[in-house]
Amino acid sequence: MRLLKTEAIVLKNNSIGETDKMATLFTKNYGKLRAVAKGARRSKSRFVNAIRPFMVANYVIFEGQNYYYIDQWELIESHKNIEKDLVKFSVASYISETVNKILEENQKSEKLYQFLKHSFKAVDELQIDPLIFIASYNLKLVSLLGYMPQLDNCIVCGKREDLKYFSNSCGGVVCTICKNKCFDARPLHEVALKAIKYFFKGDYEKLQNIKVSGVIKEEVDKIITAYMKEHLEIELKSKDFIDKLQNM
Ligand SMILES: [Zn+2]
Repeated sequence: MRLLKTEAIVLKNNSIGETDKMATLFTKNYGKLRAVAKGARRSKSRFVNAIRPFMVANYVIFEGQNYYYIDQWELIESHKNIEKDLVKFSVASYISETVNKILEENQKSEKLYQFLKHSFKAVDELQIDPLIFIASYNLKLVSLLGYMPQLDNCIVCGKREDLKYFSNSCGGVVCTICKNKCFDARPLHEVALKAIKYFFKGDYEKLQNIKVSGVIKEEVDKIITAYMKEHLEIELKSKDFIDKLQNM
């Protein structure tokens, strides 16, 4: 029997049977794994609060024949504001979903782990427009994974001006002359490009007070969502999610 000791972030949990729960954990030392919390559905269980979504904790996990089981846990960060606020909760769910889809079982990434931890902390503590937060998170994520689009120069000729189109297949901005060389080049508003650059480079803290029009937010979201679909090959619920938030 192997004992694993590690800090971890709870990506999600599911009920299994009458009394137990299964947590999907992103562990710092062993990557993504799923672990059973025995009796976690019982209110008096010592595991009742052990695997709440988005919390960070130190865990002792043992490896059984078929499953991992949580043996001990000690809370590091519960992210109380996320639990209390529906918008924050939706943003955190989106973040969790992307990471869960990107990571394979047992895949380890210290960089992604720290980024996730930092992002949850920002959702919990800062007041940021949810759509802006998600755009910024998505851009930081694709960059961390090595798929950052080219935003400063035409991807075909390298020119720095007249960057009025964006192409997923070419991987960034394209000038008017080169646009026919990228079959899926689509117009990109100058302000949207500026916003994308700012969301990418700016720390979450800096996004608290900026104002961006709904039209630009929508365009930025469309560009980034399509880009992520093409390069990360994951289907994300970003658009449904945005519609839902706008109707709240
Ligand atoms: Zn060009």
